[in-house]
Amino acid sequence: MTEHPPRSPFRAFEGTPPTPPPAELLARFASIVGARYALTSAQDRAPYEREWRDHFVGKAAMVLRPGTVQEVSEILKLANETRTSIIPQGGNTGLVGGQTPHETGHEIVVSLTRLDRIRDVDPIGHTMVAEAGVVLQTAQEAAERVDRFFPLSLAAEGSCTIGGVLSSNAGGVNAIVYGTARDLMLGLEVVLADGRIWSGLRRLKKDNTGYDLRHLFVGAEGTLGIITAAVLKLYPRPRMQVTAFAGLPSPAAALALMGRITGSVTGALTSFELLPRFSIETAVTYDPLTRDPFAIPHPWYVLMEVSAQSAQGLRDGLETVLTQAYELGLVADAAIAESLEQRNAFWRIREVIPEKQKLLGASIKHDVSVPVAHVPAFIAEASAAVTRLIPGCRPMPFGHLGDGNIHFNVSQPTDADGAAFMLRWDEVNALVHRIVLSHGGSISAEHGIGRLKRHLLPDVKDIVELDLMRSLKRMLDPNGILNPGKVL
Ligand SMILES: Cc1cc2nc3c(=O)[nH]c(=O)nc-3n(C[C@H](O)[C@H](O)[C@H](O)COP(=O)(O)OP(=O)(O)OC[C@H]3O[C@@H](n4cnc5c(N)ncnc54)[C@H](O)[C@@H]3O)c2cc1C
Repeated sequence: MTEHPPRSPFRAFEGTPPTPPPAELLARFASIVGARYALTSAQDRAPYEREWRDHFVGKAAMVLRPGTVQEVSEILKLANETRTSIIPQGGNTGLVGGQTPHETGHEIVVSLTRLDRIRDVDPIGHTMVAEAGVVLQTAQEAAERVDRFFPLSLAAEGSCTIGGVLSSNAGGVNAIVYGTARDLMLGLEVVLADGRIWSGLRRLKKDNTGYDLRHLFVGAEGTLGIITAAVLKLYPRPRMQVTAFAGLPSPAAALALMGRITGSVTGALTSFELLPRFSIETAVTYDPLTRDPFAIPHPWYVLMEVSAQSAQGLRDGLETVLTQAYELGLVADAAIAESLEQRNAFWRIREVIPEKQKLLGASIKHDVSVPVAHVPAFIAEASAAVTRLIPGCRPMPFGHLGDGNIHFNVSQPTDADGAAFMLRWDEVNALVHRIVLSHGGSISAEHGIGRLKRHLLPDVKDIVELDLMRSLKRMLDPNGILNPGKVL
């Protein structure tokens, strides 16, 4: 991999800044959505110009909040004619800066949150048609009301939107069984850069009529079109879930335990989250509602959940596997949740970790994946390498072991200067990514490329693949108006 000079994760605008849209043009954009939904004052724009961690803070010429697909279409038509840059935005929870405008003040943010209708729920056909601005949790609840299950679940589900999770192809805690957002989508409605509306809201599991274009827009991070609605796949609601916490000696033991559960428990292993002791200590120290799961600390932990349509044998099956694993030395301690309250308490430990890690000071992050069998070696090699590079730094590798997806976060040494530590972001990234690539992994497992990892793409993508990506961008957005400076 190419070495990059040290930089902070927030990069200044690279390339030729677009010219500022004149006042007369801004007025034309405003007239599409009406003055109430065209936000121009600094105060009104502010929540759309920064993300919650303040890693990416930009400035927009205005924020438009269209209420219909037709309005989205008219906005893009005008933007395309006038070469105005458009930044699509959903719940603004993305972690790679894709949804925030650059600092030029020349781009227009198009927020999709007013497109928030669930158009249809079909429990027999197991589908839901949801508009882009529907909050993920609202979609989950709508499925639940008809006794169905929409499995996409992540800590930001109270704010992130269907358009956003599809555009970033979010994974979350159930991906081990149900796949990522891409796998949960049957059809899309998309407004193209020139304003044309592609009505691809098909509800078909089988449709072999040529190229399957819908997947181009999933994970495209708003660079190829604006998703306005989607047909989502629903599943039978698992009647029974058994959740357990285990303390273990190593990630290798966790992997062996996962294999044993998959092979012998009735039902599906729907979550398998690996957590180091350091992450449990962080959660317990900084979250007053979190308790240490065991009296004695263990080097590693797993939060696991198995789900099935019937309770029969599920709990006993998991208990048997955990007992066998204990006898084999794979598990040092284990507890099965006996109530919903205890299940929620287990999950709370996992969910507060990303937020509470901020209280340890600066941290350099990696959202990476390697083949599942390589996770233990990757964690060992990457932890050793970063501690050699920055003695005293505190690696916190946690995440979705079942998907080989580890959030390899590195907290600054205690009492070190946070800003100086962050200046080593690229150096640490390069080191960790080199190890990821040596294991045949990916430098962005879940969060995408956005602005944060754009400069890394040429180093990790096959040259032919990159060329095809650029050709697709030129074809679908020849004037480069959609989310410029992101991904490519
Ligand atoms: C606490 C927390 C936990 C998270 N956990 C996970 C996790 O477990 N797994 C995971 O995969 N991700 C996770 N994420 C990141 C995840 O990518 C986002 O939360 C979510 O997918 C983004 O949805 P959003 O509506 O907020 O989109 P935004 O942040 O608004 O946008 C994200 C990207 O999509 C584009 N976009 C948004 N809407 C549209 C649209 N309608 N059409 C075209 N482009 C659009 C934007 O331009 C941007 O590039 C987490 C984030 C947070 C804050």
